[in-house]
Amino acid sequence: MSARALRLDPRSPFVLDTRELGRRPGSMRHVRRTFGAPADWALDIVRVPADAEVDLDARLESVMEGVLVTGTVEAPLIADCGRCLEPTTDRLRVDVQELYGYERSPDDPEAPILDGDFLDLTDLLRDAVVLALPLNPLCSEDCPGLCAGCGGKLADLGDGHSHDILDPRWATLGALAPNPSTPNPSHTES
Ligand SMILES: [Zn+2]
Ligand SMILES: [Zn+2]
Repeated sequence: MSARALRLDPRSPFVLDTRELGRRPGSMRHVRRTFGAPADWALDIVRVPADAEVDLDARLESVMEGVLVTGTVEAPLIADCGRCLEPTTDRLRVDVQELYGYERSPDDPEAPILDGDFLDLTDLLRDAVVLALPLNPLCSEDCPGLCAGCGGKLADLGDGHSHDILDPRWATLGALAPNPSTPNPSHTES
């Protein structure tokens, strides 16, 4: 038993126990688990909803230097369509692979290492998921987006939709705009 206290919480869904591998190169173990997504699997307009059901399917393989984790994460996504801004849903499936060393490597001090018999998938999964989030999510590949004239959804407005340049609503907006030549009445020289 290790003398130092474990940093990792073995009950966390992101923490895997490698004890069964016995540090025998070639031994393998398969892990499947389902857990609630953390809140930080997100970008501005697209995210895995916090607590949404995430499926992890991973293989732990003992190698000379440590434990190699190879797996797949699947999670639901919600996003605002990049063209029409409507909320849209999708599923994300990401492959992950990482070697967790038994010892801190002098060549790569940032590389993840085991904590006793445990390894922590938190950073591996978050980095892989966030990198795989679509930067320009669409509700459908051919989403026509919004009308530049009125901001309405073109998909709902129909093919014949267009704007006359003399649309009276535009004239009203023009009249509401402040007149830039009006002097600021509160301004005084000192
Ligand atoms: Zn759309
Ligand atoms: Zn329009």
